[in-house]
Amino acid sequence: MSMIEVIKEAVTLARKYDNIELTQELLTAEEDYIELKRENLKLREEVNNLREQLKLKPKISWYGHLYWIEEDELTKGKSRTPICNNCYDKEGKVFRLSPKLGFGSEGERHQYVGCHNCKFHHQL
Ligand SMILES: [Zn+2]
Repeated sequence: MSMIEVIKEAVTLARKYDNIELTQELLTAEEDYIELKRENLKLREEVNNLREQLKLKPKISWYGHLYWIEEDELTKGKSRTPICNNCYDKEGKVFRLSPKLGFGSEGERHQYVGCHNCKFHHQL
């Protein structure tokens, strides 16, 4: 017998014995039980959604003064892309760094990676 059946049976008995106070208490208990069941269902959905998000969460490692994101899911192989230190440390956001080419004061070429969100750059 489920909880709701037990409560309904108790309500029937309380009515049979004309116990109005007990009937009211049992009806309140029934409403509370239905509300708890609804909340439980909502929480289960949230837990399932969070589990799914966790599966998709990228693996991030620290190497050579940069964070790197594992791109295995996309490339189906071993591939890492540098992400912005500033954006990840401050806001927990992942912005991939784009390769760029610059020139030093002597006209020498510098290869670096830059963030299009916060202008962070790192020379390679
Ligand atoms: Zn950034």
